Amino acid sequence: MYSKIVILHFPPEVAQNALVCQLTKKFDLMFNILSAKISSRKEGYMVLEISSANRSGFNKGVKFLKDQGIKVSSPEHEIFKDEEICTHCGACTAVCPTEALHIQRPEMQVLFDKEKCSVCELCILTCPSRAMGLFSKNTEEVV
Ligand code: SF4
Ligand code: SF4
Repeated sequence: MYSKIVILHFPPEVAQNALVCQLTKKFDLMFNILSAKISSRKEGYMVLEISSANRSGFNKGVKFLKDQGIKVSSPEHEIFKDEEICTHCGACTAVCPTEALHIQRPEMQVLFDKEKCSVCELCILTCPSRAMGLFSKNTEEVV
């Protein structure tokens, strides 16, 4: 059995399609949704554990998702918060689905708990100061 956690980023034009369900139908893959935030006609993300009888089946399923316009990344990437740049505006806490970014009161400081981060990258898109970033823990590609 081959199993791997991947992060899917859905552009608005495919967010309403039930593409993940087709992994089972078309490629006989099993999946477990660990975290997700998707709404119709808006971009979204999903953290998914995909299991397959072998690596080849996994690769075919991921290629199918990519061919549909979904960006597939792996949690070998990590999010970092640049404390020198952060203005503690709080914008990122409104989009963070796991509360990895949260406001500490009464100081009103925005804190980042890396252990809770699902690497959905929503904070990177939201931060007006570009204080949130992504770095690679290694160079492994998802297919
Ligand atoms: S959105 Fe950016 S600047 Fe604002 S609190 Fe979050 S990391 Fe800091
Ligand atoms: S990538 Fe950013 S928004 Fe997503 S879970 Fe991690 S800290 Fe929260």
